[in-house]
Amino acid sequence: MLPIVVIGAGPAGLLAAGRAAECGAPVRLLEKNHEPGRKLLITGAGRCNITSAVDRDTFIGQFFGQGRFLYPALQTMYREELLDLLARHGIRCQVDHQGKYFPVTGQASDVLAALLHYDQKQGVQLMTDSTVQSIQRVQGPFEIKSNQGTVLAGAVIVTTGGMTYPVTGSAGDGYRLAAQLGHSIVPPRPALVPFVVKQTYLHELAGLSLPDVEVRLDQPGQKPVTRRGDMLLTHKGISGPVILKLSRELQSSADVHINLLPSFTRPELIAAILREFAQNGRQHIKNCLDGFLPHRLVAPLLAAAGIESDRMAAQAGRHIAEQIARAMSDWTLTVTGTQGIHSAMVTAGGVSLREINPASLESRLVPGLYFAGEVLDLDGDTGGYNLQAACSTGYLAGQSAAAALLRHTSNDR
Ligand SMILES: Cc1cc2nc3c(=O)[nH]c(=O)nc-3n(C[C@H](O)[C@H](O)[C@H](O)COP(=O)(O)OP(=O)(O)OC[C@H]3O[C@@H](n4cnc5c(N)ncnc54)[C@H](O)[C@@H]3O)c2cc1C
Repeated sequence: MLPIVVIGAGPAGLLAAGRAAECGAPVRLLEKNHEPGRKLLITGAGRCNITSAVDRDTFIGQFFGQGRFLYPALQTMYREELLDLLARHGIRCQVDHQGKYFPVTGQASDVLAALLHYDQKQGVQLMTDSTVQSIQRVQGPFEIKSNQGTVLAGAVIVTTGGMTYPVTGSAGDGYRLAAQLGHSIVPPRPALVPFVVKQTYLHELAGLSLPDVEVRLDQPGQKPVTRRGDMLLTHKGISGPVILKLSRELQSSADVHINLLPSFTRPELIAAILREFAQNGRQHIKNCLDGFLPHRLVAPLLAAAGIESDRMAAQAGRHIAEQIARAMSDWTLTVTGTQGIHSAMVTAGGVSLREINPASLESRLVPGLYFAGEVLDLDGDTGGYNLQAACSTGYLAGQSAAAALLRHTSNDR
């Protein structure tokens, strides 16, 4: 029997290969890097947020209108099945207070080791340093050409990932392979990516995290979009979950209006600032706002709003309190763009879902060709959604490809 060839040993490919082999098919897994799973190793800042505690319907809602495609894959493997598989292969996971699952050891490498163990136990033949250049099928088997030569396959599963963080090996090759076989590609673009901002004073504030802020993205000709969550200041601009979530909406340049204290109404904030002034009259303004903001941010924020922060609090009246309240609840920054594909966590766009059967992940155009993981036109929010989707689609694609191959082989006998 010709093998199933899986292209790309990220989480989708490792699950696809393992499951296809578990179902009884011979499987070869081709990976362009010297080591598999390079992107997996950097997920969750090296800790790997593998999945989420939410129910299936909520999970599906995190995929920006495309999530319904995932229903059959999640029916086949959702969180419990994935966690169980990982536990059987050596790593248990635990959930944190935000509903994110991580391996108990806090090491992404342990998740990778478990997936490799799964593949090895099922007899998957892993071939590294193998960059696939083309997939062809004229009649009969698929011909897969790589820098190592040509392999014949009874079925092919493309799990080459997206095109962001290309240093990990996921450089958009799958789009080219899919297009060669007639598939449409929804133009790929970076998603979950930090913003670059014009204001240079942020350089000195890099690393500062601002929990629970409200950010409104205002761009010409578009309806403003508002999101709430944690924000991080970086050397080049702004990041953190709230910005990553908004990044999908950014067309080119925009203003962001940040409410640093969204739990206060403006009048409440003014009253609270005036109370601080009254209690700390002999201090500089900049030294009596620590109850509201991180100290490092106060002077730059007030300076940007044209407020003199060295003035004594006793001399500052209602007018200054109003100006400060405005600066805190409407801090405006100019976004000049995103940090681009090299820094984006996922790729939006990819192989069009219209041409893939969600129940099997088989191409509707080329029988025997399957797709799974980020190469598909699917991208989720931060929180373990992308890895679970890669694993679930990989698992289903492996299972479907093996079932079809074994069926055809027994019919041919
Ligand atoms: C910094 C960062 C942090 C992240 N953190 C999280 C997180 O904590 N939780 C989460 O859910 N998601 C996270 N993600 C997203 C997640 O990593 C991806 O969505 C996921 O890895 C996609 O899995 P995949 O198997 O589809 O593709 P990939 O993991 O990208 O794997 C694709 C594989 O295919 C190989 N390949 C590509 N082209 C070829 C070719 N021509 N021939 C052979 N092999 C090829 C690549 O080398 C690669 O090994 C993060 C992403 C980044 C960049």
